[in-house]
Amino acid sequence: MKCNDFRCAEHGSISVRGNVFVGRVKSAKPSKTAIIEREVTIRVPKYERYKKVRTRVYAHNPECINARENDIVMVGETRKLSKTKSFVVLKIVGRKEEFRALEEAKAKPKRKEKETVEAKEKEAGK
Ligand SMILES: [Zn+2]
Repeated sequence: MKCNDFRCAEHGSISVRGNVFVGRVKSAKPSKTAIIEREVTIRVPKYERYKKVRTRVYAHNPECINARENDIVMVGETRKLSKTKSFVVLKIVGRKEEFRALEEAKAKPKRKEKETVEAKEKEAGK
């Protein structure tokens, strides 16, 4: 489906530059707008530890994409489109459940690697 929206990244005249990230649609109630939420880990220098922070970004949601609540979407930075929006939804990546499964699948092989390394060390020690 093609749209006549000039603020669309694919059919419009807007150029995506700067930050591109994946986040979840918290709300898609305003017309042609999606509120994207993502978790970011930031360093706390005082305690030399990391903490998770949620940030929200208002993104333009063109009709040809029409992202809905709980969709996982890719968002790109553009020029300012309105008072609050300077991001555009580029595409729908999946739903929340799929995203979790993906993250878990990514995390698991790392643990296995660690175990094998430890096992090897034990064998070498013997
Ligand atoms: Zn479009």
